[in-house]
Amino acid sequence: MRSVETLVGGEWVAPGPGSGSGSGSDSASTEWIDVQNPADLRTPAFRVPALTPADVTRAYDHAERGFATWKRTSPLDRAAILTKAAGLLRERADTIAEDVATENGKTRAEARGEALKAADFLEYYGLLVGRGGYGTLLNDIRPDTRTTAQHEPLGVVLAVTPWNDPLITPARKLAPALAAGNAAVLKPATETPISGLHLARALHDAGLPAGVLGVVTGRTAEIEDALLGDTRIAAVTFTGSNEVGARLRTRFAARNIRFQGELGGKNASVVLADADLAKAAKTVVAASFGQAGQRCTATSRVVVERPVYEEFTRLLLAEVARIGLGAPLAEGTGMGPLSSPRQRDSVLDHIERAVKQGAKVLTGGDAPRDTGLAHGCYLNPTVLGDVSPDLAIWREEVFGPVLALRAVDSFDEAVAAVNDSDFGLAAAVFTRDLNAAHRFAEEAECGQIAVNLTTPGWDVHHPFGGFHDSGSPFKEQGTEALHFYTRVKTVAIHYGS
Ligand code: NAD
Repeated sequence: MRSVETLVGGEWVAPGPGSGSGSGSDSASTEWIDVQNPADLRTPAFRVPALTPADVTRAYDHAERGFATWKRTSPLDRAAILTKAAGLLRERADTIAEDVATENGKTRAEARGEALKAADFLEYYGLLVGRGGYGTLLNDIRPDTRTTAQHEPLGVVLAVTPWNDPLITPARKLAPALAAGNAAVLKPATETPISGLHLARALHDAGLPAGVLGVVTGRTAEIEDALLGDTRIAAVTFTGSNEVGARLRTRFAARNIRFQGELGGKNASVVLADADLAKAAKTVVAASFGQAGQRCTATSRVVVERPVYEEFTRLLLAEVARIGLGAPLAEGTGMGPLSSPRQRDSVLDHIERAVKQGAKVLTGGDAPRDTGLAHGCYLNPTVLGDVSPDLAIWREEVFGPVLALRAVDSFDEAVAAVNDSDFGLAAAVFTRDLNAAHRFAEEAECGQIAVNLTTPGWDVHHPFGGFHDSGSPFKEQGTEALHFYTRVKTVAIHYGS
C-alpha cells in the first residue's frame, strides 16, 4: 500500500506529527483513509490523509490568500504554469495511468487517455485566457469614452468531483477556474483521490503559488459542514449524482452562491432502418461498455427501428462477445471491473429488478466465472432485450455495463422515446439520411447530439453539459466554461477633457 500526501497551502500534508515528507507539514488529522483497488479487493492500493474539519478550514484560509496573489498574476504567467503542468502530465502519463487504473478499474489505455486529456484541458485554457484574452470593447454614447466588459475571477471555487473520471473531471473544472484567476479547493471522490492528487502535483511542480489549489481528501460525512459551510466560497462546481447535486444546489441557492451541477444521464442511441448496421453496432458497443459503462454520457438505451431490430441485435451481441473482460493493467483488456463493490451490487440490483419486470437477458447479467477475476468487482457486459419504456431499467441511470434495447415503428416514435426521460445529457442517431440527422439534432432534448458517433467523446473545446435533470444552465468546456468561472464588470473611462 502506498501512502499519498495531500496538498494544503502549497505543502504536502500527511496525518499526525512527523509523518509528512520533504517540506511537507502535518495535518491535524491522525488518520489515513484506505483506497481500494477494485480489481483486487484483498489489500488496499493506497492511503490518503483523512482531513479533519480544521484542515478543511485551513485549506480555505490558504485559498483566500492564494486568490489575492493569483488574481493579480498576469494571465500570461498563469498560462505558462498551466502549460508547464500540461507537459508534466504528458511526461508522467504512463505512471499516472497505472494509478488511475488501479484506483478506478478502467483499462490502462482508458486511463492513459484520461491523463492526456487532462493535459489538454490545462493547455487549452492556459492558451485561451493567456494568449486569447477575454472581454469586449463596447460602443458608448458618451463622447471620448471607452467602455469595456471585463471578465474577472470570482474568488475561491469549490470543485466536488466523482470517481468515474477521477482525473479529467477535476482537470475540466480546475483548468478554466485557475486560468481565469480563481483559487480552488478540490474535493475528489473518496474512492479515487489519487488521480486528482496527480493533477495537483503537476500544477504544484509547475509553480502554482501556495494556496491557489488545496485538495481535501477524507470522509465526506466528517468534513461536510466545513467543506460546504465556509463563507469564503464564491462558486461551486459539482459533478456527480442527482441526489447529491440537488442537495448542494438547494444549500448554495439559499446563500446566493453560483452553482454548476453536471449530473446523471440516461443516454439513448437510435438506429434507423437505413443505418450502416455493422458500424452502428460497433459504435454503440464502444459507447456503452467503454469504462464499463461508468460514463455520464455512456449509451444505456438503444432504440431500433423494427425492420432492423433482429439484425442489429445479432451484430451487437457479436461485438459484445469480443470485449474481453479482464484486469485493468493486463494487455488486451477491453473492459475492467466496476469501481467498487457498492457500484457492482447496485448494477446487479438494477439487472435483477429489470428481469423480474420482464426484460430478457440477451447476454451477461452476472459476474464472470473466471477464478482469476474472483477478487474484483467484475461484471459481464450485459444486454437486455424487449425492454418496455415503463421499466425502471429504461428510465433510471444504472451507471454500469448494461444496455437496454427496444424496437419502435418510426422516426417520430424514436425521437419521442429519446425525449421520454427526466435526463437530457447525450443522444446519438445512426442513419444515412441527412434529413433524419438534422431533424434528430433539432428535436432531441439533449445537450450533446452525435450522428453516426458515440454518445461520449467530446473534446476540450466543445461546450459540454446536459439539459433537464442532467445539468445546470452553466456549460463546461470550451469558452462556455469561462462564463461560470468569471463575473462581468462593465467599465467606462472618459478620456476627454
Ligand atoms: P456522488 O454524487 O455520490 O459523489 C460525487 C462527489 O460528491 C464525490 O466527491 C462525493 O464524495 C461528494 N459528496 C457526496 N455527498 C456529499 C455531501 N453531502 N457533501 C459534499 N460532497 C459530497 O456521485 P458518484 O457516485 O461519485 O458519481 C456518479 C454520478 O456522477 C453518476 O450519477 C453520473 O452520472 C454522474 N456524473 C455526471 C457527469 C456529467 O458531466 N453529467 C460526469 C460524470 C459523472
